[in-house]
Amino acid sequence: MVAEAGRTELSQYEGYRLDSVITKMERDIAAQGYHVSVTAEVDDYLGQYFELMTGFEARCREQDEGNWKELLERENLREIKFPLNETRDLARIKMDPALEGLAAELATNGYHGWNRLYDKMAGDMTVRWSDNGSAEDISLGQLAGKFYHADRQVRKDAFEKLTEAWKRRQALAAMALNYQGGFRLSLYKRRGWKSALDEPLRINRMKKETLDAMWQACGEGAQKLKPYIEAKKKLLGIDTFNWYDETAPVGASSSQFSWDEAWQFVLDNVGAFSADMRDFVILARDKRWVEGEDRPGKAGGGFCTGFPLNKETRIFMTFANTYGDLSTLAHELGHSYHNWAIKDLPHLVTQYPMCLAETASTFNELLVIDAALKQSGDSQERLMLLDQKMQSALTFFCNIRARYLFDMSFYRRRAEGTLTPAELSELMVQAQREAYGGLIDEDGLHPLFWASKLHFYATDYPFYNFPYTFGYLFATGVYTHATGQGGPFADGYRALLTDTGRMSAEDVASKHLGVDLTKPEFWQNSVQSALAGLEDFVSLAEKEYQGSPDK
Ligand SMILES: [Zn+2]
Repeated sequence: MVAEAGRTELSQYEGYRLDSVITKMERDIAAQGYHVSVTAEVDDYLGQYFELMTGFEARCREQDEGNWKELLERENLREIKFPLNETRDLARIKMDPALEGLAAELATNGYHGWNRLYDKMAGDMTVRWSDNGSAEDISLGQLAGKFYHADRQVRKDAFEKLTEAWKRRQALAAMALNYQGGFRLSLYKRRGWKSALDEPLRINRMKKETLDAMWQACGEGAQKLKPYIEAKKKLLGIDTFNWYDETAPVGASSSQFSWDEAWQFVLDNVGAFSADMRDFVILARDKRWVEGEDRPGKAGGGFCTGFPLNKETRIFMTFANTYGDLSTLAHELGHSYHNWAIKDLPHLVTQYPMCLAETASTFNELLVIDAALKQSGDSQERLMLLDQKMQSALTFFCNIRARYLFDMSFYRRRAEGTLTPAELSELMVQAQREAYGGLIDEDGLHPLFWASKLHFYATDYPFYNFPYTFGYLFATGVYTHATGQGGPFADGYRALLTDTGRMSAEDVASKHLGVDLTKPEFWQNSVQSALAGLEDFVSLAEKEYQGSPDK
């Protein structure tokens, strides 16, 4: 549940559901006239930082094997061996330091500039929306909220408005995408890097075999979602399943939680797993580290950000008494706990990759949703909760995979020249066809997704997609391990989180879970766990459907 890529430490890892939060924050800042100057100032600092890093990389690269080994054995460096080796390895496959320095400097005003331009354009776009006879201009962030509406006509209208708006801007979006993709490919070529995947895999400290094994399991999992989609169609009373039906709500929750009750619910269920996590949640509550007030002008959702110097975190979210808000609280507290677990380590080994960044947050979400399911005897509420689980599976197996497949084919084609908006849409349709495997009807696909989704334009994170699915399935695997194992795993869990910034993803899994991520087995088991509840959903839906003769 959560925030869009900002440049702050944790929010950059946050999820796709909160595009609106950052858009809103940016609007607020823009309204005060600071937007351009603040962003430019941050870009300047980043430019300086990258310049320093380039110098540091050059120094690492200069060391010969003997010197380097000796250096790493020094008392004060032993603990940061992993990131130092990583820096040196990277420096050795890059261009000469002077050229790298130039490339980094040019990127600030070129490469990243395209991303800025796109964000500004998308942030300024509005559509005319009519409601109960009155019409107003709303932002795309506000429009995104309409996709969760129970009335299909509203979702359909929202989709058509989105498509119309991006049709008018698709030529500009295509320029931004082509130029930033071209920049990246030129740089890779000069460095002698063969695949556009090299860099994102390196950033995520994982192997290509791991990625392939994961997608294989997701492809198999997607096919198992067929009965869920069919049951949901019946519940919604629709014959075709479209892009905008994925987020259609089913069931209902009459449960409301006060702020205190939500904390207690999280505390009870997180605390039942780990006394350490329980103590942390009490600390965060008592120190008032979560700003959750529901007030006018504040967007929904939430995010967590860390302050490494004073070793604390803060959560910014809107709590409006629903189950979803409770889940967001649990999710963000997971991020906080992750930060807490590594707060005393040297800074360089607290930098965990995006693919491991959602481990603790998803873990907490799973703890509370399973507890809520166990407690709920109300069939409407159970339907709603189970639907949330299946929607997650659908998103991570299919939607995110479509983004990945699109990126793969985009880079392949971009190497031969620029692509027109029509060609980009065609690639997107092909990617969706493959990823969804018929779960969405041919007419219900979203050709302009490449233009409307800002993740494709995130220059800091090429392939800003597969880490989401990795994070979700990895956390599910950790959760299955934690709940399925005979003895207590609380200490092992904290130890796993503590290692996320100082070894590869494969090593974290092998050391703490005893599994091999390069093989499909781990991923297949996680997919299986993620789909637990599918049969319950189908049979509940069946009862519901047969029980209401109007449908
Ligand atoms: Zn998160």
